[in-house]
Amino acid sequence: MDTIAAICTALSPSGIGIIRVSGESAIEITDKIFKSPDKKTLADSKTHTIHYGHIFDGDEIIDEVLVMLMKAPRSYTMEDVVEIDCHGGILVLRKVFNLLLNNGCRPSEPGEFTKRAFLNGRIDLTGAEAVMDLISSKSELARKNSISHLNGKMYSIIKEIRENILYYIANIEACLDDPEHMSLDGFEDELEVKLKEIRVKIEALIKSYDSGKIIKEGINTAIVGKPNAGKSSILNMILNEERAIVTEIEGTTRDTLEETIDIGGITLNLVDTAGIHDSEDVVEKIGIERAKSAIEKADLVLYVTDSSKDPDNMDDQIISLIEGKKSICLMNKSDLQREMTKQEINAHFEDCETRPVFLYTSAKTGEGKEELFNTIKELFFEGQLSFNDEIMVSNLRQKNNLVDADASICKVLESIENGMPEDFLSIDLMSAYASLGEIIGEEVNDDLVDKIFSEFCMGK
Ligand code: GDP
Repeated sequence: MDTIAAICTALSPSGIGIIRVSGESAIEITDKIFKSPDKKTLADSKTHTIHYGHIFDGDEIIDEVLVMLMKAPRSYTMEDVVEIDCHGGILVLRKVFNLLLNNGCRPSEPGEFTKRAFLNGRIDLTGAEAVMDLISSKSELARKNSISHLNGKMYSIIKEIRENILYYIANIEACLDDPEHMSLDGFEDELEVKLKEIRVKIEALIKSYDSGKIIKEGINTAIVGKPNAGKSSILNMILNEERAIVTEIEGTTRDTLEETIDIGGITLNLVDTAGIHDSEDVVEKIGIERAKSAIEKADLVLYVTDSSKDPDNMDDQIISLIEGKKSICLMNKSDLQREMTKQEINAHFEDCETRPVFLYTSAKTGEGKEELFNTIKELFFEGQLSFNDEIMVSNLRQKNNLVDADASICKVLESIENGMPEDFLSIDLMSAYASLGEIIGEEVNDDLVDKIFSEFCMGK
């Protein structure tokens, strides 16, 4: 395989910039441009050592560096790897990188280092995907879940299920090959019990996808309500800073404003929308359209009302837009004289199948903030957000494979019920085995592998 190189750190002026080289000729190529004061080559040095020296272009010193040497197989890719710690200037990094290319490296593709780690058997596909998730994690829980995947938790669960299935496939095949000496008496009962157990595990994993996705990507939250209800103030209260402009003139939030915040380990992607009311103003009309589309895309709607005023038919319009969404009705301005009670606003939801949770808040005093955060956690995680030991499926690819595996297992159970012959069972068991194999990358085609790794960042 080619020897690849990449600049692994962001290209901006910084203390250190790292260039990574991996492949058969990584050490030989680096030795051509690197010299240490004691003249010892990397080829003659022990693995897992750090070397001080300079990068040369002919006789000219390009940079003063530290070189990390990791000989195969004890490296990220399981190939010979050299990491060069340069000074983090853009020009410096480009020059050293070009020298490596001129001496026989080729630039790596996105994710190629991790792809090699996968192809060389150091990590499975769930581990490789976790690397990317870890880099992009926005909350503490997302990070924890990625690290569990990276440490092979998903891999070991899937591997164990596959081993169980394989045992039964082997049994069936052996009996079919040698019916005189081997019997399948009582076999189907045992298989049925085992498959039901397996289904419980698979279904739990499938179910975890929703939480996993929310943890990974955050809860898309739209803040809606009539003009002046206090949407921007509520956004500021949640963010704890004066980000949105708050004024006393109706219709100040003309466009949508987006912010991200971590509340106790989960991410809220907040969109403050223009007040929803019939508007003649063109700019505002666009804002209102955006508010409607923000509601459509939202996982959660925070419907802000002014509890110092009576609800009116504009509230009904908004309620019709948020119908069917997970929502929390914030009865804001609770510090003022109360005109709207929970019962009154609740009555406006009469025709709705789902009702929001009602909370009194005051963006002015901060009342209701903690309750709001707790309610969000309740709504999405039914209070089980401890992230104990459970693993969450964090991408659709894995979920789809689990759904396929589950469908095949259901077919086996049906066949058992209908008294179908054993070779029938074996076919569906095989396809469950294959679908599970795809998750960890043991039965996966090259195109899919290329697609997965192409979404990685450079140098990883
Ligand atoms: P928006 O149009 O819905 O975004 O409303 P704003 O956040 O701009 O607030 C409109 C007005 O209501 C401003 O004068 C805020 O200071 C005021 N306001 C917002 N929340 C509260 C609150 O909880 N209590 C009181 N007393 N005033 C509030």
